[in-house]
Amino acid sequence: MTPKRYLVTSALPYANGPIHIGHIAGAYLPADIYVRYLKANQKDVAFICGSDEHGAAITLRAKKEGKSPREIVDFYHALMGKAFADFGIEFDEYYRTSSADHIEMSQSVFSKLKEQGVFETHTTEQYFDEEAQQFLADRYITGTCPKCSSEKAYGDQCEKCGSALSPTELIHPVSTLSGKAPVLRETTHWYLPMQNHSDWIREFIEKGILNGEVHHDPNQWKSHVVGQCLSWVDGGLQARAMTRDLDWGVPVPGEDGKVLYVWLDAPIGYITNTKVWAEKQGKNWEDYWKNDDTQLVHFIGKDNIVFHCIIFPIILKAHGDFILPKNVPANEFMNLEGDKISTSRNWAVWLHEYLEDFPNRQDEMRYVLASIMPEQKDSEFTWTDFKDRVNNELADIVGNFVNRVFVLTHKYFDGAVQSAATSEFDHIRQEALESFQTIGQKIELYRFREAQSAAIQLARIGNKLLTETEPWKIYKTDPEKTGEILNICTQLIAAMAIAFEPFLPFTAQKLKAGLNWNGKSWNELSSMEIIPVGHILGEMPILFVKITDEEVTRQQEKLRAAQLSNKVAEPVKEDVSFETFQNMDLRIVHVLEAEKVPKTKKLLKLKIQLGSEERTVISGIAESYEPQDLIGKNVLYLANLAPREIKGVVSSGMILMAENNKGELSLLSPERPTESGNCVR
Ligand SMILES: [Zn+2]
Repeated sequence: MTPKRYLVTSALPYANGPIHIGHIAGAYLPADIYVRYLKANQKDVAFICGSDEHGAAITLRAKKEGKSPREIVDFYHALMGKAFADFGIEFDEYYRTSSADHIEMSQSVFSKLKEQGVFETHTTEQYFDEEAQQFLADRYITGTCPKCSSEKAYGDQCEKCGSALSPTELIHPVSTLSGKAPVLRETTHWYLPMQNHSDWIREFIEKGILNGEVHHDPNQWKSHVVGQCLSWVDGGLQARAMTRDLDWGVPVPGEDGKVLYVWLDAPIGYITNTKVWAEKQGKNWEDYWKNDDTQLVHFIGKDNIVFHCIIFPIILKAHGDFILPKNVPANEFMNLEGDKISTSRNWAVWLHEYLEDFPNRQDEMRYVLASIMPEQKDSEFTWTDFKDRVNNELADIVGNFVNRVFVLTHKYFDGAVQSAATSEFDHIRQEALESFQTIGQKIELYRFREAQSAAIQLARIGNKLLTETEPWKIYKTDPEKTGEILNICTQLIAAMAIAFEPFLPFTAQKLKAGLNWNGKSWNELSSMEIIPVGHILGEMPILFVKITDEEVTRQQEKLRAAQLSNKVAEPVKEDVSFETFQNMDLRIVHVLEAEKVPKTKKLLKLKIQLGSEERTVISGIAESYEPQDLIGKNVLYLANLAPREIKGVVSSGMILMAENNKGELSLLSPERPTESGNCVR
């Protein structure tokens, strides 16, 4: 069935920080390419996004900065909206979940689900801060991780070892509001019993069947998306709380102090924002959300897969009025200069900063991000690779080709397009048409890297033609053939002006302006006779300025400097007297032997030499060092820590180590040769 209309959404970005290039490559650029292509083909499309403005992470951030949640979301909503627009991500609607429209929409969805008996209520014990007089969201509780003993684990997750936690698992929980230990109190919430839906969800994901009918072709879904969903379903779906005790969010109708779970309210934002857009357009929003001939496509990053493929579809189907997504082409992650992109560690290229540092060079970044888009597996952005792709591909292939054609046409023919009546270059026309068609086919399969590559192929074809025929050499003897070659090249540039629109929209505009031509729509291009004979070309600006080594170095340094300035060292402990310090007996010791402690991951048993004495010490460094790497080293050692028994071995003293941000341990060795047993003062 050919869809009558398209509803395309990009993940609602969370309004507690700016947008970085990893977000763009994941959920926004692919959607924008897809939508621009559909619009170039005169499809009925709504491209919907907006800020996700609820949840405990917003209130926590507000508290940290001494601001109100409203101030936080207002600031980031404006910052993100402007960055998207400046980068050419052209949403039809970029609205917000803290709006009155959205509160009304999500309350009405919740109330209908409640009336239909979709939820069940459960009373559980949750942590309550008696001083602040409120229940604590998971993020408001910190404590010691039961898995790795990190003292900075959150109630929902330990960032050090990555374990998912629940607040009651934390050892020594502390409220971040009062700094006191919270108490457990009973509270009642509405739960979505997802286990009741696992059969149809499995059929939907695995076979593309909904209500016994074919809904979509599951083979067109990415295998990692299907895989992640099925492993979730196989693991057993469970009831999930859909409300929270919090004062920032969509109020649960008729309940004081309770709000909707942010992952219930946020995706409903797609519906609200469609309605807001449709009303401005004089359209009926229900056509987009309630008609089966609408193709709903969610563009997201892989961290949102289960929410969009399992939880939200359950809500939509249980509600009864809404359609379900035809595809969720989630991307994997993009890394940056050898490390994961991280907002908290400030390891990111922020979109608004890129736009300031490289004004009017949106297409350069769009091009590189689409070239390395993490469609099937994680990918990596580096500034060196950015420079190479811009210089060697955009400037040398596209820019150079267009420039040569314009210079030669103006020089020989005063800018007039010449006749190309012979069939000598038909194979070139054919090749170009095939590349052009490939672009559309690949976009419809959500393969944007290949689609963009096919668009650039048009310039490669032209460059090859120029190199092989060298029209500047034959003009004197054969001006007619020179004109014909330049005609073909001009047609290629016109095809590029159409084909580049989804990927490089700013360049597409420049090409049209330079060609002195208004362009044609995508499906009007059926032959390579686009620009008529006799048409006069305008002036073409330099399309791409090369990226310099200095620009690369500046960006690399900026990245490292931002990360350093963001690093807040652990607070320094209380002062101690010199006498107390002197009580610690620090020595340099020599490692004689090292072996793994059986049945443990982290522990090594070391035999060390302290002067003429030999000692045994257990050390938790097995994940950072192999035993053989330690033998023969001189290391720092606390000699008078009272012996204790670990795994049946008496361990004397302690080997001292530093830890880096990745959690790797590092032994501390003296800079100059130092004899074992010597004191450290
Ligand atoms: Zn942990």
